[in-house]
Amino acid sequence: MSPTKPRVLLVEDEPAQREVLAYNLAAEGFEVEQAPDGDEALLLVSEAAPDVIVLDWMLPGVSGIEVCRRLKMRSETRTIPIIMLSARAEEVDRVRGLETGADDYVIKPYSLVELMARVRTQLRRVRPATVGQTLEFEDIVLDAETHKVTRSGKPVQLGPTEFRLLTTFLERPSRVWSREQLLSRVWDRDADLDTRTVDVHVGRLRKALGGTDLIRTVRGAGYALG
Ligand code: CA
Repeated sequence: MSPTKPRVLLVEDEPAQREVLAYNLAAEGFEVEQAPDGDEALLLVSEAAPDVIVLDWMLPGVSGIEVCRRLKMRSETRTIPIIMLSARAEEVDRVRGLETGADDYVIKPYSLVELMARVRTQLRRVRPATVGQTLEFEDIVLDAETHKVTRSGKPVQLGPTEFRLLTTFLERPSRVWSREQLLSRVWDRDADLDTRTVDVHVGRLRKALGGTDLIRTVRGAGYALG
């Protein structure tokens, strides 16, 4: 599993529907986590924030709407895009759904093609490189499809880890990343690594970019681009 894959949390209580959706999301190249109910969904989000949540409305126990409301209330989870799924008969609830802050809404039965497009739309906002967008910052250009990086038009050679690291920085310029956050996003989550690994690779990335000061060390916090 590649750590650069966008992570989609799928919350659906009907096993057959969940299976079909999970299969199709994985076929799109996403890392899929599954939850059969709201409690499990909230637990998974608290362990590691997904990039997008596909959330069924009607769930046993904590409803989809309540999961959405709780996630949108907390600053750490507010920005995770949520796509709500609901049956046609629940049109009235649609309004409430939007009031709880769902980012998009898909009516069952939905077309898988359409749902995948909606997921990609949300990812384009939060993880642009994962859907093949070209990222730019000052004179650095990163083409996520060809994996080519240039600075002032000149090619920059990067190892795979440095490439993922630069992608992460370019997706959120000026955001300060802690070493732990970079470890969990750039490296395999299951790998047991020291945060000094991050320092080593940031050093290599700076060197590859020509000794740039574009990647700042933020004392006591981590690193930031620009
Ligand atoms: Ca359901």
